[in-house]
Amino acid sequence: MTTSNNVVWHHATVTRSRREQMNGHKGAILWFTGLSGAGKSTIAHAVEEQLHQSGCRTFVLDGDNVRHGLCEDLGFSPEDRTENIRRIGEMVKLFLEAGIIVLTAFISPIRHDRERVRSLVRTDDFIEIYCRCPLGVCEDRDVKGLYHQARLGKIKEFTGISSPYEAPEKPELILDTNVWPLDECASKVMALLSQRGIIRK
Ligand code: ADP
Repeated sequence: MTTSNNVVWHHATVTRSRREQMNGHKGAILWFTGLSGAGKSTIAHAVEEQLHQSGCRTFVLDGDNVRHGLCEDLGFSPEDRTENIRRIGEMVKLFLEAGIIVLTAFISPIRHDRERVRSLVRTDDFIEIYCRCPLGVCEDRDVKGLYHQARLGKIKEFTGISSPYEAPEKPELILDTNVWPLDECASKVMALLSQRGIIRK
């Protein structure tokens, strides 16, 4: 089904590159992926804080601000997870056009779903950051008590326990969050951003 046949796309005169020029940095998608408790949100917010303090325009998207709104109708079945990431992909594309550095903190367990988002934007725009942390460590952290619930069978289709996680094959960055402390992980992300010319050195 498509309803887009009669929609006329307005070409903006205020373009992405003009916005980026005004912002003093480029737009980008920092796509964090990894198991629940691997550190995606913590690192995304730590990086955002540093970027914000240096005058960059940023936004963090995570389960809280998406699953309660745009995707409140979706659950955790494979189909719903795919649709969740598809919608988020379309949304981050708009953030990119707005010249913003958008950081996403979704488990996004399916490789194909992440690759589809990557394919929506220019090669340089999508930076996949794999928060790599052994399941046992995530489970010990059990930040939200969800692993415990999942082991009891109270949460179905929980990633790592009863639902698969497909690790990225060629992420732009791997963060071993069980080895490196938070500030080191955040520094690695900042270094990558300046190395790629997204922010000034
Ligand atoms: P996720 O968003 O991946 O579900 P969270 O960021 O909510 O994970 O939780 C990660 C937990 O791990 C937090 O309690 C955080 O303090 C802890 N932690 C320990 N070391 C690190 C690290 N190097 N990077 C990020 N988080 C870490």
